[in-house]
Amino acid sequence: MSYSVFNIINAKSNIQINNILLAAFEYFGEFTSILEFKEVHITDRDTPMIFYPYRDKNEVIIHLTQNVIGSPQEYIYQLSHEIAHTLFANKEPANNLEEGLCTYFSLECIKKGFGINIYNNYRCYTLLTHYAKPLILVEKMINWNNECIKIFRAKYPTLKNITANSLKEISILSLEEMTYLCEKF
Ligand SMILES: [Zn+2]
Repeated sequence: MSYSVFNIINAKSNIQINNILLAAFEYFGEFTSILEFKEVHITDRDTPMIFYPYRDKNEVIIHLTQNVIGSPQEYIYQLSHEIAHTLFANKEPANNLEEGLCTYFSLECIKKGFGINIYNNYRCYTLLTHYAKPLILVEKMINWNNECIKIFRAKYPTLKNITANSLKEISILSLEEMTYLCEKF
């Protein structure tokens, strides 16, 4: 393994994970398949990520970066983004739509947990990263119809193998924008 694990967050975070999951279900609908959250690790990797350690089991391990140490906001920002990914549980690289949704959701969790000022800071920060375009397009869709993702997932639960044409029904975006959302992040 190319990383070291510095800390294992334990039972206390199970309540947090559950609360974040329930919020994610409300925004985007439920799991594609039921998952079991085994561990949350803080590692020396550069980016947070999720792992499905066994092909035949639905267990999830979440890795967060050291930036979360001493920062409850950063902890929620990273954790809620990764938890949102588990809804789609496709075990494949995410497309821009999925990344946009996870980013949107983590900002919503910051807003609910830490207020509008911290939310604004995090949103400005996010807009300087390569998550900016997926986020802006997802915001446009959700502001137009906040049920659109639930509606879409009834047909395409994992968000995989989607095309601009499939997004047409639930989106006010241009063809170019919808095509972009279907591409690999
Ligand atoms: Zn992501």
